[in-house]
Amino acid sequence: MIFVATPPPLVCLDPGHGTPPAVGRQLEPIGPGSRTMKIKDGGGASGEAAVALAIARRARLLLLGRGYRVAMTRTGPTIHLGGGNGNIARARFCNRRHAALMVRIHADGSTARSLHGISTLVPAWHRGWTDDIFARSLRAGREMQKAVVRSTGAVDRGVVQRSDLTGFNWANVPAVLVETGFMTNPAESRRLKSGAYQQRVALGITLGVAAVVPR
Ligand SMILES: [Zn+2]
Repeated sequence: MIFVATPPPLVCLDPGHGTPPAVGRQLEPIGPGSRTMKIKDGGGASGEAAVALAIARRARLLLLGRGYRVAMTRTGPTIHLGGGNGNIARARFCNRRHAALMVRIHADGSTARSLHGISTLVPAWHRGWTDDIFARSLRAGREMQKAVVRSTGAVDRGVVQRSDLTGFNWANVPAVLVETGFMTNPAESRRLKSGAYQQRVALGITLGVAAVVPR
C-alpha cells in the first residue's frame, strides 16, 4: 500500500491597503487583457489598513489552530510582494500557492456616517476571468457572510457581486472580500479597533472558511 501525504489546504489572507501612496496611485488593468485601468490602492478608509491587518493576524492564528496552512499578502503595515504590489500581485500571490480560498479583509467607508454593518463581496461572472471561480466564490461568500454576521452580531448587509475589483478578476482561486464594518460610523469604528471585536470578526472568518474548505 502506498500512502501519499497530502498537505493541509492553504488559506490566503489578504489584508487590504498598506500600499505606499506612490505605488497605490499607479494604474493596472482591471482584468487579464483589459484596457480598463484602475489605481492599485486608494488607501482605504481612515484606520482601515491597521484594522484589516489586526483581523487577518487573528484569523491566521485561529486557522493554524484548526490545521490549515495560511499565507498572508502582508504581515506588516506595508506590502512587500513585488510584482508591482497591486491587486494583480495580491491575486497572483494566492494563485501561485493554489489557495483553497482567498479571503480579502477590508472595512468600509461612507460619507453617510450612520451606515454600519458587514457585507461580503464576491466576483461577478465574467467569461475568461471569473467563470472558473464564480460558483465556488459565491458559495464561500454566502457562508462567510453568515458566519461573520453570526459571530459579531453586526447588521447583515448581504453578499454583493462585483465586476470592478482587480483582485477578483485576476484570481484563479475562489475569492471573497469581507467588508468588516464601517470605519466612518463612530460606534462601529470603535468596535473594529478593539481586540475583542477583532477576535469575533476573525472567528467568524475562520468559521466561514471551515464551512467551505474541509479540513
Ligand atoms: Zn478597503
